[in-house]
Amino acid sequence: MSNDLRDLYQETIVDHARRPRNFGPLPEYSHQAEGFNPLCGDRLTLRLKVVGGVIEEARFEGVGCAISTASASLMTEALKGLSEQQAEALFLGFHSMLTGGVPVSGSLLGKLEVLTGVREFPSRIKCATLAWHALHAALHAEKQPVSTE
Ligand code: ZN
Repeated sequence: MSNDLRDLYQETIVDHARRPRNFGPLPEYSHQAEGFNPLCGDRLTLRLKVVGGVIEEARFEGVGCAISTASASLMTEALKGLSEQQAEALFLGFHSMLTGGVPVSGSLLGKLEVLTGVREFPSRIKCATLAWHALHAALHAEKQPVSTE
């Protein structure tokens, strides 16, 4: 990886860690899951509003390190407009990008590629994948009625 690319990736991560997108409560949601990474202390709650099989909203709340916050922020941006199946494919793609499984095309991951550098820091992989495991859990949980509040 060139230094310029590395710097760009680093800047994007810092930006999302400082100003996380889609951070806060989601009053009307259909899916929810909590994630906890005891190795680092990262904690988050992910909420999704899925209508007709398509993710219309994704928001998260919690406290975590820069990597876990940036990853959750980037993930919630990437999820909007995806079908549940596409979101699941993205989860698998992201997971294999970090754990060195099946190679994934950059076009699938898009902006999420900024987190590839985390591969070099095995202790931080759980930080980067926390929000994604919450996503996986949320999509596989029993559906909850959309709150009307
Ligand atoms: Zn962490």
